[in-house]
Amino acid sequence: MYAVAEVIDDLCVANKGCRLCIMYCPEANTIIFNKEKQVAEVVEERCKGCELCVVVCSAAKHNAITLVHR
Ligand code: SF4
Ligand code: SF4
Repeated sequence: MYAVAEVIDDLCVANKGCRLCIMYCPEANTIIFNKEKQVAEVVEERCKGCELCVVVCSAAKHNAITLVHR
């Protein structure tokens, strides 16, 4: 089992300009802005489960990313 980050679309405020998770993720091109859906999106195959995106999103009180176990 391993952990990956997952965005809860309804809580994500990327449509208001938030890019915190995208800025802080240490893995290149792993969280991207989905222009169609206007939310941040995790590229699961690239995610290392480090939880940094969860920490920054929670610190900003959005709570829009969780770690899920596969
Ligand atoms: S930090 Fe949270 S609210 Fe901001 S873009 Fe990422 S998932 Fe969305
Ligand atoms: S858990 Fe780490 S590697 Fe995965 S998307 Fe979040 S910050 Fe990036």
